[in-house]
Amino acid sequence: MLIGGIEAGGTKMVCAVAEVRAEAFLEGCQKEEGENAEGVRLLDRISIPTGQPEETLAEMIAYFKKWEIQALGIGCFGPVDLNRRSETYGHITSTPKPGWAYCDMVGTFEKALGIPVGFDTDVNGAALGEVTWGAAKGCGSALYITIGTGVGVGVYVNGGLLHGLVHPEGGHVLLARHPKDTYKGRCPFHENCMEGLASGPAVEERWGDKAYNLADRQEVWEMEAYYIAQAVADYILCYSPEKVVLWGGIMHVERLFPMVRGKVQELLNGYVRHPMVEERIDDYIVPPALGEDPGILGAVRLGMLEYDRTRSERPWHC
Ligand code: ZN
Repeated sequence: MLIGGIEAGGTKMVCAVAEVRAEAFLEGCQKEEGENAEGVRLLDRISIPTGQPEETLAEMIAYFKKWEIQALGIGCFGPVDLNRRSETYGHITSTPKPGWAYCDMVGTFEKALGIPVGFDTDVNGAALGEVTWGAAKGCGSALYITIGTGVGVGVYVNGGLLHGLVHPEGGHVLLARHPKDTYKGRCPFHENCMEGLASGPAVEERWGDKAYNLADRQEVWEMEAYYIAQAVADYILCYSPEKVVLWGGIMHVERLFPMVRGKVQELLNGYVRHPMVEERIDDYIVPPALGEDPGILGAVRLGMLEYDRTRSERPWHC
């Protein structure tokens, strides 16, 4: 069976088609030991620049029409409406991205393709990908945190993606300023939030150079780890994840991982008593196991779950 996935971003739309075997539907469910068939293979993908919605959506629809997909999943830039009882369910909501505010993502693809369409935030999609097939496989609760142009946090708790009143916006948690930081922050809403202080553009603006040119500057990454670790410690305290997956452009600076882990332990200060935090933190705060694909594979998984949900008989449901 073919399932489509879209990683819908503000600069590009990654569209992919995956071949999914029946057993793959069971991935992520409670399973017997040794029963770990992957069952999913990405057959094709394209990347379309995010222009005006009319043209961009038409191009995406034309791509998927070439394949016999049975369902589609979308991990979407936000904010989005995830409330199935809402009239604007499946829409992007108040984005400043020209033309995209209140764009009906789910309805557009459902109408054009006549198939079930799963929908969630881009970071929740990536969290789902890592929980199903990646570094957080088998976890009942896990986080996917991306630190790049923006900061986003996907939250999977007690076997499902967290939505709530709107959806979590962990990228904007408020942080204590580093005593030596005089940078004003980049977020138009908050003076001292995670995205405003620790995103890629914040690093560049604070230090006056591209992040990759700052690789040798220890003070840059010490300050960065100070902020990332505060946020991660807060998320650990709030969500009690079994795995914390950290990624995004900034986390490609490999030396950040040990710095963040050490600082998280220091900040938690022995309060969260668990071997994963106290002894095995290298195995607790990790990069994704799906490389650059957690978002697109997570989108495919969203499509699979929606296919499953909309069938009267649910042979794959666990
Ligand atoms: Zn903010």
